[in-house]
Amino acid sequence: MKNRKAATFLYLLGDRGIIDMGIRRAATVEEAVLRVRRRRWYCAAVLNDIEADLTALQGHIGNKMEDTNLWKHESGFKSNFSTFETWRMVRETRTQCDWVKDIWFSQATPKFSFIAWLAMLDTMPTMDRVSRWNQGVDTICVLCKNAHESRDHLFFECSFTSQVWEHLVKGILSNDYTKDWHEVVQLITDSSMEKKKLFCIRYAFQAAVNTLWRERNKIKHDDKPMLLHALKKMLDKGIRNKLSLVKAIRGKGMEEVLQFWFSTRL
Ligand SMILES: [Zn+2]
Repeated sequence: MKNRKAATFLYLLGDRGIIDMGIRRAATVEEAVLRVRRRRWYCAAVLNDIEADLTALQGHIGNKMEDTNLWKHESGFKSNFSTFETWRMVRETRTQCDWVKDIWFSQATPKFSFIAWLAMLDTMPTMDRVSRWNQGVDTICVLCKNAHESRDHLFFECSFTSQVWEHLVKGILSNDYTKDWHEVVQLITDSSMEKKKLFCIRYAFQAAVNTLWRERNKIKHDDKPMLLHALKKMLDKGIRNKLSLVKAIRGKGMEEVLQFWFSTRL
């Protein structure tokens, strides 16, 4: 502190602040502290705060301790640097959304969860959103060519995507089956549901959202999309592979999850 340049602490004030306080640009903190003999008052509140801090430091000047670097943590200044603490100090904190664990659940496939997360927030570049900043674009759904594209349409009002969704979950949900986005969200966030049933629905939801979004993008980029029956088969196989792994891990409440999946195939 003795040798550190006071101006590095005062740079935000600019020259005006430094001149008002009578501190040389090249002054050390020690010089700035010893300069204060009698408490001064300034028009700018920040200068009064700095003056108060400099006055508070007076008792510490004079000891021969060497300068040390300190890092600000939530609990105060410490000599160790922590990326976690620093991130906490600089980030803007918000309340955690209540469905975070329903998307980033145990055994989920991260790339599926990521796309599902975007869908939950409705931040995918679906044509209803694109048309807000790029008027005149074609907003017709490229999968059914029969309605305007939106998040709710793609998942799963669309006559094409709804067939995939129905194939995956109708046997599990029976009378509770729905293709309405908001009702689907209620299902995947229903923690009172039997564990293996909930896992199958959540995983099928994320796999379907990811795969159907990819197919939609293929058509947008003039690539050849998969045929409906091949798409259903591929998704079903991917989910079965996942359930085999989950079965091998033997999570509590997940016993015979693969058999459960087979028993719900129509
Ligand atoms: Zn459609």
